[in-house]
Amino acid sequence: MWFKLLILAIAGVALYRFFGGKVPFLDNDKKEQREEESDFGKIEATSSCAVCGTYVTEEDALIHKKNTYCSIECLEKAK
Ligand SMILES: [Zn+2]
Repeated sequence: MWFKLLILAIAGVALYRFFGGKVPFLDNDKKEQREEESDFGKIEATSSCAVCGTYVTEEDALIHKKNTYCSIECLEKAK
């Protein structure tokens, strides 16, 4: 009998979360982590591609002769 109740409780929580409900003791850690990630994303420096103007992060950018390019293709076009 307790097993059926447990399944019912899990199904209830799953349904509650499915419809956008928040379970504080389950969601707190994840939420804090996500906020840290998005803050990091905002701080991250971006540059626009010298050819097509696409914004790329410093990490993904290709830098050639002080110009920033989003991809090898754009770097080839610039030559
Ligand atoms: Zn480009």
